[in-house]
Amino acid sequence: MGEKDNKYRLRYLDDAVLRETSAPVTALGEAEAKLLKAMAEITVAHRGVGLAAPQVGVLQRIILVSPSILPEGADTVFINPVVIWRSDDEEVEEEGCLSLLSIASPLARPARVAVKYTDVQGRGQVLEAEGLGARALSHEVEHLDGILYIDHLSRLKRKAIRDRFRKLYRELGLENR
Ligand SMILES: [Zn+2]
Repeated sequence: MGEKDNKYRLRYLDDAVLRETSAPVTALGEAEAKLLKAMAEITVAHRGVGLAAPQVGVLQRIILVSPSILPEGADTVFINPVVIWRSDDEEVEEEGCLSLLSIASPLARPARVAVKYTDVQGRGQVLEAEGLGARALSHEVEHLDGILYIDHLSRLKRKAIRDRFRKLYRELGLENR
């Protein structure tokens, strides 16, 4: 089954769903399990390190972060995640987004964050992460409130990225999906 037929296809910049606020998850059932499976598949297929449910068109507060950038043994699925602490020190690293075709730009983010969330078993948890893990958590949680990383950039940089995105989007034939 191609991505075109998939209920959960990846959404790109200019898709209005990316600008919506997601609703809290109140129950974890079969629909959420299917959603998580699709999110994991899309993340791997596009070589991403994280994904938020709105990026596949679902306005629910669910994010996924690759285990490769989190502390060993950490959860990779975060339900109703909230960043409850940010370090004062920041790091500037290249940051991209699958909804922007992985076009990246340097961006300052807290070096460490703590995130409160519910795990897939429905238990309340807190995870502290650093570096790329902290960056991905900050980035994915923002998706749940309709925020994209380019919103943190200057107007000029944002325009340059939008132009690059639109060109690449056309070149890849994505407008004809
Ligand atoms: Zn993103």
